[in-house]
Amino acid sequence: MKKIAGFVFGMMVLISGESQAYKKIHEGAVVCDTHNDIISVTIEKGYLFDSDLSGKTHSDLNRMLQGGLDVQVFAVFCDGDQQNPFEFANREIDSLYAWIHRNPQKMMLVATPQQLQEAVKLHKLGSMLGVEGGHMIEDDITRLDSLYNRGVRYMTLTHNNNTSWATSAQNEIDTAQHLLHKGLTDFGKLVVKKMNALGMMVDLSHVGEQTFWDVIQTTTKPVLVSHSNAYALCPVFRNLKDNQIKAIAKNGGVIQLNFYPRFLDSTVAIKQDAFFKRHKAEQDSLVATGKTAYFAEDFLYKKYPGEISDMQAPFHFLLDHLDYIVKLAGVDYVGLGGDFDGIPFTPLELNDVTKYPLITKALLERGYSKKDIIKIMGGNFIRVFTANTAN
Ligand SMILES: [Zn+2]
Repeated sequence: MKKIAGFVFGMMVLISGESQAYKKIHEGAVVCDTHNDIISVTIEKGYLFDSDLSGKTHSDLNRMLQGGLDVQVFAVFCDGDQQNPFEFANREIDSLYAWIHRNPQKMMLVATPQQLQEAVKLHKLGSMLGVEGGHMIEDDITRLDSLYNRGVRYMTLTHNNNTSWATSAQNEIDTAQHLLHKGLTDFGKLVVKKMNALGMMVDLSHVGEQTFWDVIQTTTKPVLVSHSNAYALCPVFRNLKDNQIKAIAKNGGVIQLNFYPRFLDSTVAIKQDAFFKRHKAEQDSLVATGKTAYFAEDFLYKKYPGEISDMQAPFHFLLDHLDYIVKLAGVDYVGLGGDFDGIPFTPLELNDVTKYPLITKALLERGYSKKDIIKIMGGNFIRVFTANTAN
């Protein structure tokens, strides 16, 4: 009897030891996320990133550290209607600088792979900058130098809007749009070459298919897709088709997965459309008072939290996209670009930036080796970052 009890106790220790193994792997991995919109949210709402924003946002400094994040690329974003996008971009960069200045023990700017390793060693949040939308250079190529000198290490060539030199995924599929060109213009190709020369990663999230293929033909460095998913599993305009995924693998690039349920689970769009149909009168009245469409949507999401939970796809969808890309292209070409604070709601369980360890746990449960988990959680991104800084 005693022996059996000992055996049972031993088994329990073994099981709980195994169930905790993911924490060790997570701590040991260099966890990198390549897309987070908290800078825009803090500017818009007047929040302090280094205060406790639980319940208000997906991210703040202490919660990022709690989630075991080693490196976060902060998105510098303004929409295409902004009057002075380059100026606005610099204002956002100033915000990150201010946060780092106020928290030298917890954060440091990362602009080189060496600095990235230093941040890991010092247990500081390695803080990188990525500009989300080529409109922020205002058609002036010298502004790439300026952004690079301030630490920007990727630029998403387009957001949902076109630039004069690259077409976006949104606009390429919009048949009502009269496109003056499709894909990259000659100036667009110069932008890509300049970014290659500087060591600024070319980010292909949000770009149209023609732009995508033009970049693949033009770039001499591995590309980044900072926050997108697989079209085969969720056919939305800004996800990647199989031939694009294979081309990224061939180029040595990486696809960092977006957590937005609408881009993971194709049933979410239907539920979301029904939600806005139900609240159309309220939405219209907000817009009629001069509020932006974004404000009205945000307002409705906050007002009806019970209805949001129906739209939160189960967490396994994220892993399904990951498995799909791994099977199609290999384990070296996928990572995480959650889009926290740029998305109105998250998958179930992945409520905020403290939840990254759950991804490591789920990968372990799906049979990924420690070596592969380290690649997915950040190693693949670091490889692409390093390759871009080489001459
Ligand atoms: Zn985006």
